[in-house]
Amino acid sequence: MLNKTRPVASIAINSVALNPVQTTIIARYYALRVALIAENDSGSRPRPGEISLAHHGVLFLDELPEYPRQVLEVMREPMESGEIYIARANHQRCYPARFQLVAAMNPCPCGHLGDSRQQCHCTANQIQRYQARLSGPLLDRIDLQVEVPALPPEQLTAQTRGESSDDVRERVLAARQRQLERGALNALLSGRDLEDVCALESADRAWLAAALERLKLSARAYHRVLRVALTLADLAGESRPAREQLMEAIGYRQLDRQLQGG
Ligand SMILES: [Zn+2]
Repeated sequence: MLNKTRPVASIAINSVALNPVQTTIIARYYALRVALIAENDSGSRPRPGEISLAHHGVLFLDELPEYPRQVLEVMREPMESGEIYIARANHQRCYPARFQLVAAMNPCPCGHLGDSRQQCHCTANQIQRYQARLSGPLLDRIDLQVEVPALPPEQLTAQTRGESSDDVRERVLAARQRQLERGALNALLSGRDLEDVCALESADRAWLAAALERLKLSARAYHRVLRVALTLADLAGESRPAREQLMEAIGYRQLDRQLQGG
């Protein structure tokens, strides 16, 4: 279901939820409508799709593995470049698509894998097939992969207060300012600039390379880990990432590690 209303005053959060769809025709439809472009009935006038409407905003995809693979794969390039290039017989268009992807998924088809209160009835094969719907290259591009376990009711109702959003906001703004003063937001740094800014100690660089090798993470994941580590350093008010931030950044690649058997 696509959003029909877009509050002008708030930052766009483009939330897209689908029912499981399998056929190629429907997959193509969603690839066009959700991830790529929206076409009119005749297919002649492409308009910006959800990823472009989420430009400089958040695109939230719930139940990520339920999306047709075709939809997920077409997002890979825009996730790198921040734009989507469309070539049709009569039209060539390039739309901006620098969106912040936020996605959610269950650990298995029934949703109870790892849940201490309800038993998962999925077979190992079903779980493997479900998780394998997310390709390695797509996961490479997702920087923070975090498991959120179900909370027992007593914890849900507990009155413990965490850090306030105002405090977090201050910290985020300070980190962002630090990046701007350095010349560019971390997300926009090229690989080379990123390495220059991080200026890892040689021991840390060797440690990171060994860790990535052990976890079978790709060269792309290397820069993404570095980028997250630099942001963690910015949030901590440090000039560059140390081993602690590198370890934390790798810790956020939970799904990669799980699917690689790491
Ligand atoms: Zn299950």
